[in-house]
Amino acid sequence: MIPYGRQDIQQADIDAVLEVLQSDFLTQGPMVPRFEQAVAEKVGARHALAVNSATSALHIACLALGLGEGDWLWTTPITFVASANCGRYCGAQVDFVDIDPRTYNLSPEALEAKLERAEVEGRLPKVVVAVHLCGQPCDMQAIHALGQRYGFRIIEDASHAIGGKYQNEYIGSGRYSDVTVFSFHPVKIITTAEGGMALTNDNDLASRMNLLRSHGVTRDPTLMTCVPDGPWYYQQVDLGFNYRMTELQAALGLSQLERLDSYVARRHELSQYYSELLKDLPLTLPWQHPDGYSGLHLYVIRIVGDEKKHKAVFESLREQGVGVNLHYIPVHTQPYYMNMGFSAGDFPEAEAYYADAISLPMFPTMTEKQQEKVVKALCVALEGL
Ligand SMILES: *Cc1c(COP(=O)(O)O)cnc(C)c1O
Repeated sequence: MIPYGRQDIQQADIDAVLEVLQSDFLTQGPMVPRFEQAVAEKVGARHALAVNSATSALHIACLALGLGEGDWLWTTPITFVASANCGRYCGAQVDFVDIDPRTYNLSPEALEAKLERAEVEGRLPKVVVAVHLCGQPCDMQAIHALGQRYGFRIIEDASHAIGGKYQNEYIGSGRYSDVTVFSFHPVKIITTAEGGMALTNDNDLASRMNLLRSHGVTRDPTLMTCVPDGPWYYQQVDLGFNYRMTELQAALGLSQLERLDSYVARRHELSQYYSELLKDLPLTLPWQHPDGYSGLHLYVIRIVGDEKKHKAVFESLREQGVGVNLHYIPVHTQPYYMNMGFSAGDFPEAEAYYADAISLPMFPTMTEKQQEKVVKALCVALEGL
């Protein structure tokens, strides 16, 4: 089976992890700050906070932005459930904005229309989570302008997008958002096994997220409510969590980071080759907005036809050893969210996408030969209908 995604672990990665295993610190040592600084410098952000997953990063970002009960978080239905769940963790209500039919990202036009209605109804969002699906950046300038007008804060869920660019700047620079989140799960662009990071240019947000990822406990006297009792003293000033990244993970991440640009470049080569091989088939191929340079985490095709055809093609590809996938089932149609009052039909573009999208295998060590095998299998699947 050709998987849809796969990590690339090289000897340098193994050496880096082994070195940490034999060192004094397995956690809370020098590697995490080193990894944070390297990512912050790479993408041009002031602060980076490494945590144990992107989900944790989304959670502490929402808390740091003051999201809580009585507030609304809005995001796209075409994302992993974590982009919405982070709002629920904070006790906030979640709502969705339909997608743009070309980029499959949250549509700024749909967002603007929904904001106009929400203003009248007095239920404007406090936080909007913009997800860069497949690595393609959202129209951040438009979303930011709406944020200024309607007073919401912005989190970029860039779980697919490290190494990508928007308007010639690395995603994570935070020009148009408050916090950017990366995921280092093995299928993503670079990996730390499990792991994530929150980036921001705001000193207060960084300080809050730093506390929240480690129990709300500080050893920094300037954050304490009184003078320390002595050199042993620490203080819990907030309710936080244990969301820390280990030294082993950070060492792996640092080692992987050196290959970030080459990974993304390789994904672009693979994507171009797919597009060349597939151009005459009855498919909708990925469309790239000229403002962005995608991280290309995913290569999504859409089957022209009906839902039955989509399912048949998907099944045939799996049977032929091609590990296709579907990113994602619209979040509002998950039973957990349906129980909150959402129903099928609420977000038509997202549901149309779900009815015909397929993610083809793509990962940096994939060969052209494997791509040709995928395309051959796809031809067989389409002809068998
Ligand atoms: C993978 C992913 C997440 C969650 O990342 P973890 O590191 O596994 O917690 C969140 N959002 C999106 C869009 C993702 O693809």
